[in-house]
Amino acid sequence: MVKGAQLYEGKAKKVFATDDPEKLIVSYKDDATAFNGLKKGTIRGKGAINNTMSNALMRLLESKGVPTHLVGELDERNTVVKRVTIIPLEVIVRNVSAGSFAKNYGVEEGIVFPAPTIEFSYKNDALADPLINEYHALALGLASAGEIETIKRYAFAVNDELKAFWAGCGVTLVDFKLEFGRLADGTVVLADEISPDTCRLWDSATGKKLDKDRFRRDLGGTEEAYREIMDRLKANMEAIK
Ligand code: UDP
Repeated sequence: MVKGAQLYEGKAKKVFATDDPEKLIVSYKDDATAFNGLKKGTIRGKGAINNTMSNALMRLLESKGVPTHLVGELDERNTVVKRVTIIPLEVIVRNVSAGSFAKNYGVEEGIVFPAPTIEFSYKNDALADPLINEYHALALGLASAGEIETIKRYAFAVNDELKAFWAGCGVTLVDFKLEFGRLADGTVVLADEISPDTCRLWDSATGKKLDKDRFRRDLGGTEEAYREIMDRLKANMEAIK
């Protein structure tokens, strides 16, 4: 697979063309941003960790029947993915109160919900990714009603699988954000990444945060936390192969 021209540079990844028009190469960076780009920094080693972790979790999800964009890992930071058109929705699933949920509804963090929740944000940096509902997504033409149903079904299936996987690593999956895309034939697949940048992962015994909140909230030990969560995943890779 030949790495061609850079097509796009995002906050945490670069995307390159390849010699196959239906495939792209995603290259993970150590750059970190928070608060819609207002806070910037570097988490050393993050790119390699997120690349490996996201690919391992996507392989697990594929084996459970959730289609993803993953084609194959090239090296530490680079992965070949199917070309998709990203559906501009951030799909957030929560098992435990944290972050914007706790803030918006005036509750403490750490409340375990009786059932998972789902919500959508309109992926639009200029508008700071506002929360929207399904009717708004339809009105804006972001996705069809059928696509929204498919996305919800996949998102809850992802939650079931990842919650169980992380529980086996002694980690509570608090919440996470997914993005979906359309292949050329319109098939909806899971895209983007699943990593400590996009999930809240708490040590089940101590509640220690093993995710990007360490960076967002200046808690210190961010690089160590990324390494620790990666080690936990590696120790349970058998469950994935
Ligand atoms: N999240 C993300 N990208 C975003 C916003 C949220 O990956 O642009 C993830 C975040 O890491 C967390 C979940 O989605 O795991 C829920 O985030 P929340 O809505 O609580 O927002 P935050 O507190 O991060 O602003």
